[in-house]
Amino acid sequence: METDYDVIILGAGAAGLAAGLYTTRAMLKTLLLEQLGPGGQLLITDDIENYPGFPEGVKGQELATMMEQQTARFGAETEYTEVIGIENIEQPIKTIHTDDREFTAKAVIIATGGSHNKLGVAGEDALAGRGVSYCAVCDGNFFRGQDVVVVGGGDSALDEGHYLSGIVNSVTFIHRRDELRATKVLQERAFNNDKVKFLWSHVVEEFRGDMTLDRALVKDLKTDKLYEYPMAAAFIYVGFHPNTEYLSDILELDSGGHVCTDINMRTTIPMVYACGDARAESTRQLGAAVGDGITAALAAFHDLNN
Ligand code: NAP
Repeated sequence: METDYDVIILGAGAAGLAAGLYTTRAMLKTLLLEQLGPGGQLLITDDIENYPGFPEGVKGQELATMMEQQTARFGAETEYTEVIGIENIEQPIKTIHTDDREFTAKAVIIATGGSHNKLGVAGEDALAGRGVSYCAVCDGNFFRGQDVVVVGGGDSALDEGHYLSGIVNSVTFIHRRDELRATKVLQERAFNNDKVKFLWSHVVEEFRGDMTLDRALVKDLKTDKLYEYPMAAAFIYVGFHPNTEYLSDILELDSGGHVCTDINMRTTIPMVYACGDARAESTRQLGAAVGDGITAALAAFHDLNN
């Protein structure tokens, strides 16, 4: 059975790169297909403090480069292109279509990760890139010394708010409840940070500004009072969705669009695996994504040889 590759890995984030490291070391001819750059979420993360092996933490972009170099060293190939679909997914030879090419493989590992959710309020799209942002590491520096807002109360919001507080004058968290969802250590750090304020039990109703964001209409959910709150920028961290739209008609997904797998990352279709943030029940942790990628690669190696 002739195919271009033994394994094609969709996505070169942490899960995909870890999978590629293991498939190439197992002498499987491997191609990674990546839309942007190797590293996925690592590329938009500043300090990583909870990935074992780095007692002082590590910068996301540094770790992404190291992971990519390690995987490439064993012969993984990478093409930068957008995956748009998989043809004959149930057949022994699977064809991956990208926006400009097609490739065949015996096994496919889905590692396309996820993206941050939008808030879905008026003014958000019009002011995106003009003060409304989903990436503190990319855009924080534009607002050096200014007063910015972070929307959300989870780990992403607090991590990114902490990063911003090193650059800006103040960070106000706008959170819809009066209790944070984030890990306790991140909460403590925020509560002890002089540059951090909280607008508890508040939501943003509309982002406002002529050409660039300068304020938002916010609502106090305890009093129903609406008022304008000034801000130079708003960084939105209100959850995450998997990048699996291209799989919706061909694979079993859960209600949130995550790919369903067994404990060995096998999907319901033979020789198709999923790992990292794209799969159901992922803990959305970097270390877990790496572990998923390795497990998927080992399962693919086992199945290709049996
Ligand atoms: P998350 O945990 O789902 O938190 C989303 C936050 O946004 C919550 O506080 C939620 O409020 C709020 N929210 C959701 N929809 C909203 C809306 N429409 N309007 C206003 N607020 C809204 O998402 P996340 O922070 O991206 O984290 C996702 C996963 O990644 C988690 O498992 C997390 O542990 C992991 N992660 C870990 C790290 C780390 O280890 N350092 C860093 C980043 C992410 P409620 O609390 O009221 O629901």
